[in-house]
Amino acid sequence: MTPILRFAPSPTGRLHLGNVRTAIVNWLYARKSGGRLMLRIDDTDLERSTAEHAVAIETDLKWLGLTWDLFVRQSDRFAEYAAAADKLRASGRLYPCFETPEELELKRKLALSRGRPPIYDRAALKLTPKEIADKLAAGEKPTWRFKLERGTTAWTDLVRGPVEIQAGSMSDPVLIKADGQPLYTLSSVVDDIAFEITHIIRGEDHVANTAVQIQLFEALGGKVPTFAHFSLIADAQGGKLSKRAGAISLENLRDDGIEPMSILSLLAKLGTSDPIELRTDQTQLVGEFDIAKFGRSQPKLDIVELEHLNAKLMHALPFEAVADRLPAGADAAFWDAVRGNLLRLSDAGVWWQVVHGEITPDVNDRDFMATAAGLLPAGPFDGDSWARWTEAVKAETGRKGRSLFLPLRLALTGLDHGPELARLLPLIGRDKALKRLEGHAA
Ligand code: GLU
Repeated sequence: MTPILRFAPSPTGRLHLGNVRTAIVNWLYARKSGGRLMLRIDDTDLERSTAEHAVAIETDLKWLGLTWDLFVRQSDRFAEYAAAADKLRASGRLYPCFETPEELELKRKLALSRGRPPIYDRAALKLTPKEIADKLAAGEKPTWRFKLERGTTAWTDLVRGPVEIQAGSMSDPVLIKADGQPLYTLSSVVDDIAFEITHIIRGEDHVANTAVQIQLFEALGGKVPTFAHFSLIADAQGGKLSKRAGAISLENLRDDGIEPMSILSLLAKLGTSDPIELRTDQTQLVGEFDIAKFGRSQPKLDIVELEHLNAKLMHALPFEAVADRLPAGADAAFWDAVRGNLLRLSDAGVWWQVVHGEITPDVNDRDFMATAAGLLPAGPFDGDSWARWTEAVKAETGRKGRSLFLPLRLALTGLDHGPELARLLPLIGRDKALKRLEGHAA
């Protein structure tokens, strides 16, 4: 049996760390198992969904390097959802309810005040066929609820192990709204059956949905897939992620210079028994993936961790991997000189400016600089020039350590930190170096 998985975002906003993790885990599962992945756009809510967000989801996933084998847009499939609803009506599992939202709210409050769980009381099931017909004839628009079977709904979850949910503790869910719109609970199951989804992997916030959906699979005559619900990410303080780091969109991260492999390295391992370490290619992450490695405790995400991974990635990437995104003219020598000092690729621009652009040198001790300038070796500089030069300056001035190196760095780069000068100096070249030591912008 070839596994078939799906990632099913609702196009009501941009992808963020929380939901992109679901995409990554499904993708890893599909690739590791030789299965297929479907991207399903859950856009039945025509008011909240937008075509722009749907396009942005695809753009974001592609940027991340994820690929999918099948694509479905739920707004193309309203007829299938209507047919499924008819089937449920015919078998007596979908019933019309005419209560207004205000009436339902009142019932809820009443139940709570009596110490009862605020679940729907199924009053609509007591309506006679004539009462229903009269209401419909009078133009009343019902919502349609799925009649849950009482008793236990159970499944073996790939992450949580055996799960049991008492359907008696749940309201019969509305599957069709008063305006006729099918809700996610139904459309999702209809598609999972139609496209023969074998594995549903998603966050634990869907556990209660799963109980309902298993009953729906059965009521519609579908095969119940295997489920896995991973724990949701908390932020570094243990708070709910959605309000903080989890809400950070891929778009923001990309604009901030965070690379796809940094995000993949983090999210593929978060919540698993594997340590989070940088991986520079997807194949390795796919090889290491195993859904059994996911644990039940809540993983914490510190956004700083993502920045560390990104810095490590900069150090690890060869020139060829970044060449087309570096300033025009940058070569391997430049990349090798600066990559150890980058948190993000765009920072390379700063060092490109230092090497090839004009900077204002920071020169205080002019006598010292004059001495240093006089000792500057003849060009062209090579990998040893810096060592030979600073040895000579040290011998002449008696300075060493920080008091020797920092003024030279400030003069040559205008900055008090940065890549090794032994590598930068040959790139800066003798003419520029000399002018800067003399305090001129160059
Ligand atoms: N559109 C649903 C969501 O974004 C899909 C959930 C599911 O995987 O079934 O929550």
